[in-house]
Amino acid sequence: MTHALSRRGVALWLVFAASLAVAADGARAVPAAEVEAAPVAEEQYDVIIVGAGMAGIVAARMLTDAGLRVTVLEARERVGGRLVALQVPGGAIDQGAMWIHGGEAGNAVYDAAVEANLTLSPRQNYGSLTLFDAQGARSSPASYLRAYTQLNSRLIPQMAALRATPGAPDTSLAAEYSAFLDSATLSPQQVDQANVIMHTRWQALLNGNITRLSVLRLNDAKVLPAVDVMLEGGMPALADELAQGLDVLLDTVVTGIEHSADLVVVRTEGGETFTAKHAVVTLPLGLLKSGAVAFTPALPEEKAAAIDSMGYGLLDKAIFVFNTSFWDTGSDFLLREMPDWSGRWSVFLNYQKLFPSVKALVAIHVADTALALEGMSDDEVVDEGMAVLRQMYGPDVPEPIQTSVTRWAADPFSAGSYSYFAVGNPRNMTRALAAPVGRLLFAGEATSDKPASVLGAYLSGVREAERILTLRGDGNYSYGLAPPSVEAALQAAG
Ligand SMILES: Cc1cc2nc3c(=O)[nH]c(=O)nc-3n(C[C@H](O)[C@H](O)[C@H](O)COP(=O)(O)OP(=O)(O)OC[C@H]3O[C@@H](n4cnc5c(N)ncnc54)[C@H](O)[C@@H]3O)c2cc1C
Repeated sequence: MTHALSRRGVALWLVFAASLAVAADGARAVPAAEVEAAPVAEEQYDVIIVGAGMAGIVAARMLTDAGLRVTVLEARERVGGRLVALQVPGGAIDQGAMWIHGGEAGNAVYDAAVEANLTLSPRQNYGSLTLFDAQGARSSPASYLRAYTQLNSRLIPQMAALRATPGAPDTSLAAEYSAFLDSATLSPQQVDQANVIMHTRWQALLNGNITRLSVLRLNDAKVLPAVDVMLEGGMPALADELAQGLDVLLDTVVTGIEHSADLVVVRTEGGETFTAKHAVVTLPLGLLKSGAVAFTPALPEEKAAAIDSMGYGLLDKAIFVFNTSFWDTGSDFLLREMPDWSGRWSVFLNYQKLFPSVKALVAIHVADTALALEGMSDDEVVDEGMAVLRQMYGPDVPEPIQTSVTRWAADPFSAGSYSYFAVGNPRNMTRALAAPVGRLLFAGEATSDKPASVLGAYLSGVREAERILTLRGDGNYSYGLAPPSVEAALQAAG
């Protein structure tokens, strides 16, 4: 665990204890508000890490293990950032990241989980599907396969040809997919099937609107099919494990970062000031876009432009936990074909497939559809989902015993889910996001060569810790958990 009492907590406790002593003498007790406002003595760190998600924790772990004075400032009441799980009967369900993509030996996140003795699930089987048509009736796998074959034999080569053409202008997946639909010989039902195939293969995976996803960069973030596994008990266990013993100040919202040739000064909502020789900023791209944290001087134009234009999407989950399972428990996914590409209630992940004691279905929504659902109440979302499940499995489908609806766009410390390459984004845009600005270093999934993933976040933390250690000339240090070089880690990750 992280320190049970943060440094701020210790300071507040001392003030509080002193106030009690004074009060016992009959003098004025210090009111709580005044205690809260008491400034903490300034001390200089080697490194301040902003954000205790995977990137921040890994950077802090390496730098702390190398003997540097490091503190992590985290806005939430917990570490892990976009790794968070819901406790349910029989286990836990990830509300943020759930798959270790490329989950096999040599992948830094997989290796860290093994090292921490965490239990990994079997691999997700993306070909294990139960199909329903748009009205909720069982659908023919043979017809689905024909739509799939046309997509593979026409759309994919069509997009590959575009990518292979030097200087070809970028275009959206929507444009290419529409051209495919116009030229393909698909029955109306096969169009519905093509919609769900396109949606699951790209739109849902990349969490950006099909109208904004770049065709030139379509394979540069996440790709399917993939070797994906989950962690029993959820992903936060890995974050907790890696954060053990680190100096993390929870509930500490950073509002301003000032940097000069000599120093970095970080200011918080509570009025505290922290100074260090370097800071590693791991704020999610959504937070950088919103300007919630002020940089003084402002970030250079190239970085600001990259922050503005890199895609940042939305993936939300509606979790339904039941007493008994009424669905096709042998399938990894239940898919509902759709006459449009909204993906509304078209993907249900059967959690029970990988975790037999967890009787739950998790509906996945992305982009505009997810945003529309965020505008509804939990009850409205759950009712809509239950109506669809009853279309598929009949009126006797029982009420869920537990539900949860995520709202990652509304989350003030995430402001969305993860980055994607939007039309026109060059491949090296992540490098612009990663570029240091004087004493400010940048980590986090969007700065990684493997964006949109926990692995990318992890490797970006390694990268920036290495950068600081190299800058400081500390050539000989023990990593503890990290592979010997970022390049080696990237290669190992494939
Ligand atoms: C719903 C969902 C599903 C996903 N599924 C997968 C998946 O299956 N597999 C996969 O590999 N990836 C997945 N991802 C992406 C993955 O979760 C992220 O890439 C990764 O966790 C990002 O880590 P990070 O350290 O870069 O950012 P974060 O985890 O967001 O860490 C940044 C930290 O900064 C903190 N912070 C924000 N603002 C402030 C502030 N002002 N002051 C102080 N602290 C602040 C945040 O609270 C957070 O803890 C998913 C993400 C979401 C949201």
